[in-house]
Amino acid sequence: VALVINRVREGSIAEEKGIKKGDILHSMNRYPVNDVIDYLYYSKDDVLTLRISRGGKAQTVVIKREGHKDIGIEFKPFRVRRCRNRCIFCFVDQLPKGMRRSLYIKDDDYRMSFLYGNYITLTNLTSSDKRRIAEQRLSPLYISIHSTDNTIRRKMLGNPKAGDIIEALRELTSYRIRIHGQIVVCPGINDGDILRKSLRELQRFYPYLQSVALVPVGLTRHRKAGIRGVNREDALKVIEIAKDFRRKFKKRHGDPLVHVADEFYIKADIPFPSYKEYGDFPQIENGVGLVTSFLNSAKRIRLPRRVKETRIAVFTGVSFKPYLEHFVDRLRTIEGLSIDLIEVNNEFFGPSVTVTGLLTGKDIFKSVAGKTGADCLLVPDVTLKQDENVFLDNVTIKDMEESLGMKVIPIESTPEGLLRGITDEYKRKD
Ligand code: SF4
Repeated sequence: VALVINRVREGSIAEEKGIKKGDILHSMNRYPVNDVIDYLYYSKDDVLTLRISRGGKAQTVVIKREGHKDIGIEFKPFRVRRCRNRCIFCFVDQLPKGMRRSLYIKDDDYRMSFLYGNYITLTNLTSSDKRRIAEQRLSPLYISIHSTDNTIRRKMLGNPKAGDIIEALRELTSYRIRIHGQIVVCPGINDGDILRKSLRELQRFYPYLQSVALVPVGLTRHRKAGIRGVNREDALKVIEIAKDFRRKFKKRHGDPLVHVADEFYIKADIPFPSYKEYGDFPQIENGVGLVTSFLNSAKRIRLPRRVKETRIAVFTGVSFKPYLEHFVDRLRTIEGLSIDLIEVNNEFFGPSVTVTGLLTGKDIFKSVAGKTGADCLLVPDVTLKQDENVFLDNVTIKDMEESLGMKVIPIESTPEGLLRGITDEYKRKD
């Protein structure tokens, strides 16, 4: 039981107390600490007694602080627990070689779910994990439900040993753990009446079950299994089932509970629900409400009248192009700004993958090279690894700059981010 300290922030209380990188933290206020969650959980008091060792020598450090001030230590990331499933639609299994290494990690770790909102299947929880979830109130958790019919769920997970999902949800909600669920819709497997039944059976877990996202199965050209993707007819049916459920549930509870991923509306070619219907956008990270949220911000944003001569290029995946185009047309009214919007086809994963977040550096390069006279390319950050300037296929921003021969700047994937990219570029030219 111990945690290796990976960093001590400059000017922090920990630095003041002489804690150093490489020190090992054994306990806090007498509670053993196994990982960063234990650390967060036991660091609620203003007086902290840390049992630390350095080079085999143990010492006690007492820290008195006010108002829960962060003491300034960071830890080595824990070993992520791998999944025991072989989902028929697993995106990781559909990845070809040569992508970013972290993309091949098949994690199924309740700690990652609590800390970062990663989806888990509950198929590898031990009784001590469950005790810990209850005790430390690790909430909310993000759970892949797929179907409440265990036979279908086990088939989808490729795991005949997966436990009873209703029983697992019942147990977690009895500990008052909040849950966000997702159902990956595979046509012909868990849609239609099966989906209706799943939603009917899930509603009893409200309000601890806070949202359920319906997301379409994502298939790349590298898939092996013989499952098919969602077509327009499937999308219309899923939206209809959700609409019916949402209407009834909202009438009773003032909350629709079920949310449908943007891709379904795009596939079905029908309007998105209104901004209000997404509530506080609980599943935006899962592609639910992204378009509506973008359009809403785009509508409100105030544009400058003019900027100094600036030639910018931006790009997008196929599915978002019509929505971004609208905003780019507005940007074109800014005097001095010339902006090219480039649509990038996903040759790497295949034409059925149309979202911007799954574009590779090489595909972006192929679409942009020679298509614009711009001197700067703005790159939406959804195409990059978080906090790093690397695309999915290991191409870096620097590589891109060198091969395109123009400046390449990452921006936040929002209207504000795009406008900031433009105005910053204008300032840089000053
Ligand atoms: S849970 Fe399923 S989809 Fe997720 S990583 Fe494991 S096999 Fe892949």
